Amino acid sequence: MLDKAIRRIPDFPKPGILFYDITGVLVQPDAFTYCIDRLAERCKAAGADAIAGIESRGFLFAAPLADRLKLPLILIRKKGKLPGKTYSCKYSLEYGTAEIEAHVDDIKPGQKIIVIDDLIATGGTLKAARTLIEQGGATVASFLGVVGLPFLHYRQVLDPTPVLTLIDYDAE
Ligand code: AMP
Repeated sequence: MLDKAIRRIPDFPKPGILFYDITGVLVQPDAFTYCIDRLAERCKAAGADAIAGIESRGFLFAAPLADRLKLPLILIRKKGKLPGKTYSCKYSLEYGTAEIEAHVDDIKPGQKIIVIDDLIATGGTLKAARTLIEQGGATVASFLGVVGLPFLHYRQVLDPTPVLTLIDYDAE
């Protein structure tokens, strides 16, 4: 069901990239509920006490999950979007660098946080998210993604934090 709902768009946003588009999941209530059910099971098993979502498509899965589990929802956003005092972490992209931030007041020392994104590719974004969370004295219990591209070796990058994805593809 999930495989059918995920659209593949070749050469987006640039030539050579096969884009896995989760908007097809959002317009199929059964597929969306399936994702939230599976992700919720994993959050419960990990004993998480907060959910963090990565801007922007990670928010779409993190928010219903936080509501379902009655857990705090932490937003990890691109630099300059959060109004309060922030932790920040720079990381490398294929070309250049990016920076993400989280509100200092939203991360509590000792928290076990689950971090969610729509898709895990190189793992660079999630690694930077872990650095942010650790700046706040919290730990990442697990990384969750709807789609995983394991041939890009995100497990090595994110080691030793456990990673769970709902569906994996072996080509880009
Ligand atoms: P990374 O930091 O390399 O793991 O990249 C993960 C982020 O980039 C996620 O927020 C994804 O939404 C996006 N992304 C990277 N590659 C793709 C792809 N092939 N299809 C869809 N989204 C992607």
